[in-house]
Amino acid sequence: MGSGGFSEMKRKLVLINPVNPARTGLTVNKSSRFPPIGLGIVAALTPDHWDVALLDENWEPFVYQGADLVGITAFTASANRAYEIAAAYREQDVPVVMGGIHASMCTEEALRFVDAVVVGEAETAWPQVVADVEAGGLQRVYRGEWADLAGLPQPRRDLFHPGYMFASVQTSRGCPMDCEFCSVTAFNGRRYRRRPPEEVLDELQTIPQKMLFFVDDNIIGYGRESREQALAIFRGMVERKLDKWWFCQASLNFADDDEVPHWAARAGCRMVFLGLEAEEVDALAEVNKRLNLRRGVESYEEAFRCVHRAGIAVLGAFIFGMDGDTPEKLHHRAEYMVHSGVDVMQKTFLTPLPGTRLFSQLREEGRLLYTDFPQDWERYDMGEAVHRPRGITPEALAQVMEESSRRMYAWPVLARKALRTLWETRNPMAAMFTWQSNVNYRNVSGAK
Ligand code: SF4
Repeated sequence: MGSGGFSEMKRKLVLINPVNPARTGLTVNKSSRFPPIGLGIVAALTPDHWDVALLDENWEPFVYQGADLVGITAFTASANRAYEIAAAYREQDVPVVMGGIHASMCTEEALRFVDAVVVGEAETAWPQVVADVEAGGLQRVYRGEWADLAGLPQPRRDLFHPGYMFASVQTSRGCPMDCEFCSVTAFNGRRYRRRPPEEVLDELQTIPQKMLFFVDDNIIGYGRESREQALAIFRGMVERKLDKWWFCQASLNFADDDEVPHWAARAGCRMVFLGLEAEEVDALAEVNKRLNLRRGVESYEEAFRCVHRAGIAVLGAFIFGMDGDTPEKLHHRAEYMVHSGVDVMQKTFLTPLPGTRLFSQLREEGRLLYTDFPQDWERYDMGEAVHRPRGITPEALAQVMEESSRRMYAWPVLARKALRTLWETRNPMAAMFTWQSNVNYRNVSGAK
């Protein structure tokens, strides 16, 4: 497709990545902005007789650009911004199709603001959207399937802003775990699916950036086979001499033995994000963090040592505001983050996002503080208390968060963390990742 007669009358698809200007979150930092990989895949799925442009508010506020079709994505916190931009196009009778996590979880709501919604993964749905637009008969809802990931098109990286320091890469989707606060299973399913390692390696070879972020929720998966495939990717990166620096997300099983961290490090891994959530059992049980519970919180330090031995820094993600949390417990959590082997300290408010059990439960119990949707979605960015936990008032929770930010992101603490990373990992780049990531979190936390 896409040659000859069509080329003079190409249609125009404009893809939009909205960011709420009042709630920029980590996008305020250049080094914590990541390319909208989903839109890159949608662009790759679009036939050649369409011109594709990407307007990315990670870099510039939206300016209207003429189009025959608009594709827009959004996280929950930027849903309103997406609706605002959609309105500008619908005024001009340009059809707007919305996809991504928010529209998939709040389809009825989104349909009030856009012409069609793609629910779930776009690969199996987008070709039909384009065909229907060409035939002049757009449907209201398209449902993507949890299809096999072999043969996945590579995202159109040429459309991403050149300022991105990290390239985003995906090797797997889905999660068999069932954490209360997480919508990954609702969006990507419970079956962990992997791309064939050779396909991932071929894609990695096309990426010019030195630095990568593997966006998978757990890069090594949950079984023997997926672990072997992850190892095949790491070994392949070494064999192909890709010479990258990267970070990824994983569960504690990343550190079950030395082999995985060893090969990850040799392939260029400098930091791993671990969803630790809490340092005490009751809190883990409350959010159903099964994998951490099974290993026990006393296994955390051994896991950190194992990761450090390989030359990799640990980004420990913790949640504040669970029902069992009290001011004392949260101060303890903050101290744990400061003194433990965690290198990079991330703390967020427990945030009930649509599509999760946590959201349904808190709404039923009347414990959500803000329910004027869609306006109030912008508060659901993990940087604000949006519900009433049982053991602490929202005001006290906000205060503990502020005090903890001042405590853990104080410059002397950050300097000590970076030096400790250097000491434990003997890897200057891991220490650099520690320093930069903690500074980024400091910036968004407003710590003075
Ligand atoms: S938080 Fe992580 S482990 Fe839990 S369900 Fe979500 S992706 Fe799976």
